[in-house]
Order: sequence, then C-alpha cells, then structure tokens
Amino acid sequence: MTEMMTPRKHPVAPLPEAGTLADEIVKALMFRVGKNPSVATGYDWLNASIKVVRDRIIARWIESTQRTYEAGGKRVYYLSLEFLIGRLMRDAFSNIGLMEEMRDALASLGVDIDVIAELEPDAALGNGGLGRLAACFMESMASVDVPAHGYGIRYVHGLFRQEIQDGVQVELPETWLEHGNPWEFERRERSYEIGFGGTVEATTDKLGRVERHVWRPSERVLATAYDTPVVGWRGKRVNTLRLWSAMPIDPILLDAFNAGDHIGALRESNKAEALTRVLYPADSHQAGQELRLRQEYFFSAASLQDIINRHLGEYDDLRSLPDKAAIHLNDTHPAVAVAELMRLLCDVHGFGFDEAWDVTRRTFGYTNHTLLPEALESWPIHVFERLLPRHMQIVYAINAELLREAREGGLNDSQIRSISLIGEDGERRVRMGNLAFAGSHSINGVSALHTELMKETVFADLHQLYPARINNKTNGIAQRRWLFQCNPGLTALVREVIGDRFMDDIDALRDLERHAEDAAFRERFAAVKRGNKERLARLVSERMGLWLDPSALFDIQIKRIHEYKRQLLNIVEAVALYDQIRSHPERDWVPRIKFFGGKAAPSYFNAKLIIKLANDVARVINNDPAVRGLLKVVFIPNYNVSLAEVMMPAADLSEQISTAGMEASGTGNMKLALNGALTIGTLDGANVEMKDQVGDENIVIFGLTAHEVEERRAEGYDPRAFIEASPELSQALSAIRGGVFSHDQPDRYRDLIDGIYERDWFMVAADFDAYADAQRRVDALWTDPADWNRKAILNAARMGWFSSDRTIRQYANEIWDVPA
Ligand SMILES: *Cc1c(COP(=O)(O)O)cnc(C)c1O
Repeated sequence: MTEMMTPRKHPVAPLPEAGTLADEIVKALMFRVGKNPSVATGYDWLNASIKVVRDRIIARWIESTQRTYEAGGKRVYYLSLEFLIGRLMRDAFSNIGLMEEMRDALASLGVDIDVIAELEPDAALGNGGLGRLAACFMESMASVDVPAHGYGIRYVHGLFRQEIQDGVQVELPETWLEHGNPWEFERRERSYEIGFGGTVEATTDKLGRVERHVWRPSERVLATAYDTPVVGWRGKRVNTLRLWSAMPIDPILLDAFNAGDHIGALRESNKAEALTRVLYPADSHQAGQELRLRQEYFFSAASLQDIINRHLGEYDDLRSLPDKAAIHLNDTHPAVAVAELMRLLCDVHGFGFDEAWDVTRRTFGYTNHTLLPEALESWPIHVFERLLPRHMQIVYAINAELLREAREGGLNDSQIRSISLIGEDGERRVRMGNLAFAGSHSINGVSALHTELMKETVFADLHQLYPARINNKTNGIAQRRWLFQCNPGLTALVREVIGDRFMDDIDALRDLERHAEDAAFRERFAAVKRGNKERLARLVSERMGLWLDPSALFDIQIKRIHEYKRQLLNIVEAVALYDQIRSHPERDWVPRIKFFGGKAAPSYFNAKLIIKLANDVARVINNDPAVRGLLKVVFIPNYNVSLAEVMMPAADLSEQISTAGMEASGTGNMKLALNGALTIGTLDGANVEMKDQVGDENIVIFGLTAHEVEERRAEGYDPRAFIEASPELSQALSAIRGGVFSHDQPDRYRDLIDGIYERDWFMVAADFDAYADAQRRVDALWTDPADWNRKAILNAARMGWFSSDRTIRQYANEIWDVPA
C-alpha cells in the first residue's frame, strides 16, 4: 500500500444514540446532504439541522392546511412585492420549540449552533420597513392562527450589499441563493402562464353587441411557485409564503430551438428569467421602469390564478369568493390585481361588469404606506396600454363607474379630476393609488396620524365619496424576533421576574412596570444592556477595526437613508456638539457614540452624499484627541435584518427624527423601545402613539408638529431666519459647507448645505435648536442612571401594544372578517 492509499483519519465524535435528535442530524447529514460528518462544513451542518427541524414543521404544515380546508373557513392572501425576511433558522427553531434541544444536540456533535446560525444567508427580499412589516405579519398570522398565504416574488438577487469605500456607498450584488435554500419547496405543478402585450378581440352576438373580450398576449412567461413554511409561535399553525419565479414557456423555446434559432431560444429564456432577477432598490420612491410594472403584474396575476384555482377546487362558484378569500394589497405595488380580477371574472368566468365589480370590491383591502408624492405610483398610459391592453380597457370601464358615482355623490369638477384613475396633468397616467382605493372595501393607514393625514390629503376626495372605507391599523413588530431571539439576555431576565405569561400574552409585559422601582432589578437590567452593547462593540471592532467604549451613551439611527428621515439633522447636531466640546472642554460632557446604519437608493444622489458626510464627519471627530472619550461617530455598513438584530438590543437612545407628517409609521422605533432604548423623536408616525403608551415623561419629544410643518410651508418658510438666529447651527453648517470635513474636496457639501439655506424642504433649520436642546435633556437624564434605567424599563414594559399580533387581530376582525 502506498502512502496515498492509507485512509486518512478524521477525528470522529462518538456516534450519537439511535433515535436521538443528534442521531437524526447525523443521518440527515449523511443521507440528505451526502456528507461524512468528519468532513462536513458549517453549511452542511446548517443544512442538515434545518432539514431535521423542517420535517417536523412539514407535519404541522400539512395539518394546518387540512384544518383550514375542513373548516371551510376564509383564507387571507397577503400580496406584497417585498418580504424582508432576514434569517429564518432561529425563528423557525424557536417557534416550533426546538431551539434548546437543537443547541444541545449539535453541541454533543461538537457543533456550535450560534456559529452555524451566522452562516445562514439573510433573505433581503425587501427594501426596509414595508417589506419587514410583511415578514412580521406572516409570522404573526401564523402565531394568532389566521390561515394565510403570503404572495411575492422570489428575487434571485435581493437588496444589494452595501460596502463603504472611502466613505462612499458601493452597491454589490446580493446572492442569498448561492448555497441553495433548504427552506423552500419548488412546486412545478403550481405553474401559471402570464401574458403581456398583444391585442384584444371582442366577440359579438347576432345583434352586434359585445359578448366577450379575448386578450391575445404577444408574450408569455411561466410563473412557478416556491413555498416556504412560516411557523407560528409554539407551532400553533404553519402558513405558506409562496414566491413566484419566472421561467420561459417551453413550447416557444422548443419552436425556436427546432427552427435552428438556438440564440433566439436562449434570448427568450433570459428575458423570461430577467423578470424575477432583481428587487428594485428604491424605498419610498417609485421605481418607474417598465420592468417594474411587469414584475407587479406577473406576481399579481399568478397569485390571482392560484387563489381562483384553490377556490374553484373547493366551491363551484366565484360569487362566494369574498366570503372565502380576503386579498390584501400591501401598498399599490399589487394594485393591478384589481383590474386582473375584473378581467378573470368578466372575460374568463362570464360575469357581468356590475357583479364582477361587487365581488372585486368585497374581496380586496389596501394598505397605504406613504403620502410622499414621489412614492405614489402611476404609469404612463402608453406603457400600461402596450403591456396590458385589456387591463387598460378595464381601468377605463372602472373609471367610468367611479366618476358616475362621484357625480351622483355631488363631487365638483376639481374633486372628480383628483379621484379619477387617470391623471391628466401633463402626460396621462394610470394612478395606482386611486385604483387600489376604488377596488377595495377597506383602505387603511399605518398609524393614527398617518391615517388622519391620508383623509386630509391624498385621499381627501375619495374619502368624501366613501367615508366608511378609510381606517387605521397601527403597525407592529413580531416580539418573537425583536425581543425573544435578538435579546436573549433581557428575555431571560424578564422571565425570571414576571414569569412566562408575557411570552404568550404580550400585554403581560406590563407586569415589568413594578420592577422599575426596584434598584436591584434596575442594576440587572443595566447589566443586560451593557452585555448587548459589548456585543455590538465587538462587531464594530471585528468589522471596522474601531474600538468603542461600551459605557458611553449608544445613540442609534438605523433605517434607510432618506432626506425626510433627517440623518442630516443628526449629523449637523454631531458637528455642533463637536464644536461645543472643543470650545468648552471644562464642562462635564456625556460620552456619546452616534451610530448610523442604512442603505441609500443607488440613484438617490443626496442620500448617498449624506452617507459620505457621515463618514467624513466620523473620520475627523474620531481622530481628534480633543474629543477623545467624549464623542465618536460610526457608520456601520450594510444595515439589514441581521445587523438590526444586534443593534436594537444595544441602543440607549433611538433616533426617530423625521420631519413631522412624513414618516407613515416607522417600526424601527418600536423595536428599539421594546429593547429598552429611550426615544428622541418628533410627533410623527407611530411615535405619537408610543408617547401615549410609554408616558410623556419617558420619551423625549421635540420639534414642529405635522400641522405646524404644513402651516410653515403655507406661509412661506424662510430657513435663513432660523440659521441666523442659531449661532450653533450656522457655525455647524458653515463648517460643513466650507470643507472642514472634506479637505480633499472642499466644495463637496456646498450644494447640499445651500439646499438647507435656500429651501430646506425637510425643515432641518426650523427644528435644529429644539433638537439640540432635546439632546442636552438626554445628557442630563443620562447622568442619573437610576432614572435613566427606570425610564428604559418602562419603555420595554409598555411596548406590548406594538406587537404585530395586535395589528393582525385588528386586520382580521375589522378588515378581513376572519377569526383571530
Ligand atoms: C425595522 C427595519 C426597518 C424599518 O426601520 P424604520 O426606522 O421604521 O424606517 C428597515 N430595515 C430593517 C432591516 C429593519 O429591520
């Protein structure tokens, strides 16, 4: 025997006992992953572990589906172009109740579950709050036992990975499917043809009256389903997230191929697959390109065919659809589903217009997520008509009916112009918000303030016409992910002092209130926070090579970078504070670290410039010995769900400082407060309701209200007056404008700062002094740790209302009419 042939010896752990979880993991590794335990990589262990737990999930999944079917109950269909899922392993293992058993089983095999958990890709099939809400809703629907299907797109590339190079955002492709996806099941048998373009033919009867319309698309692609099980808390129910992937339709390909057109066949194939290749990276901004409208129609049409298919499998008539299906539109992205359902009912199932319109309106509900004009979707008529000629006709028909009702309802001409599905100012466009509103029986906003503003602004006239339709459903977050999993230290402490009841009934978290007065408990609470801050400091040291002092005040602003969210206000305040510390070194300054995290849309010039500014300011401040130990600024790259899970529990202060009236709700604000951060914020979005819940004395509110912002704008706002009246602000703005932080390019921020002098749409100048004062109030609070910790504890204790379980129960009872 040569040396080469001597079998290599691998250190092999003793074989686990047959029938144990460890034994199952080893078997899965060998027979399902195809690896010898002694050479298995972390990915292999992750894969095998997921498969073992997945088997148990599937049993519950089948049981849940069967239960719904037998009960003949109504199902909820949640249509969303985005699901910002993040990692799934912890959610699923812990909800099914196997987290600790899996930890022990893997430990007995020499594998650390926390290490392999870090290998799971972060599924970023969304941009920010809207997509994350959809993910929390999916988890909550399973947890409160609502039979639901989420429908979306299986993007091959989710939201881009962000690198910061020389302070500049660089976008890199994201490849979450690189190592396969053990959670998903491809359902080839669930495939539907989706058409685009072509012509519409009308068939007529003997008298020449139009009987039916037949759409003959010029292009077709296949939508294939990929299902992911969504496990509810304690495994109560397992629902389905069904994501569609586009594929070429074989016959077309075969024709081209047989005709010798191999390149043509390949081109068709690439074109089909391009449809679901990437997520549009624009947040609170309309994407605008034709491919986006294709994506919207593709997933809406596939979902509707699937829903109708399921309905007709159980019932023989689509007239009962509204009693058995509640279809929910997450923003206007799936609004074309309104026209598609009308088409299917009229053209395929023989309904008359009136009856189809009645069924449609009783089936759909719609959530509005923003009032920002640049985010309100509309499509040029010529694009819409070319891509969806039959839907264009249906939109006109719906519009005729809508305008008839409007005239009957006494709306004037200008109101009628505003509610029309077709915008006539400039290029004629299809307004998706109005279409979604017209086609739904319920339209909801996502916080009390946002809902009121919706009634006063975008939908004022539609609201006058249909006063019963608009209602509020304040957003929420899933406490399983945003407390139990991301903050095991706090969760264990809470369980110890108030028992486990809050884990099933989050309102019981209020029992924590009485411990806020207990000095010993406050110490333990502070120790948990300290541990979480050390964990974040470690992450920053590993990723960025920066050393941070965990005893400093951790001041955190993490969210998409957008002018309305006002990261710029925070950065300008950092510059002013820097100047103050240097001018008054004798004062007792509170050591503070300002953290930033967030992605900018690649085409959003100012947002990217703000990232650069944060990094420029950080470089100067962090290298100045005059403020060492007192002030640091850190921009952590690639903010995503997994990073959020480390940052939320580590925050002392949560920055929620949007221009009032512009943040519809926010959910990052809820995650941070639930983990014991104090909020500094404006009276915007859900901050208003957070203030009501936690109490005025436990939150730091500053700045103009939404109505004051409106008034200022109406009366002609002059930012210069505010700048001249505030020496700190003018000093900070001049420093930035003059190149103090950009020696390599002194005029880098000239236009950005001139924008504040000249227009300041987001009212940075008007709110600056109030914000700086509020920060000094925060400093004063920080110097009394007992008081700070009492407030932090009360924040956590009083955030239970912001559970997405509460939100989902309200949707179920008040919109969907399903039990929850
Ligand atoms: C919660 C969350 C958001 C939303 O944050 P807001 O502060 O509400 O804008 C965005 N991205 C991620 C990764 C989140 O977890």
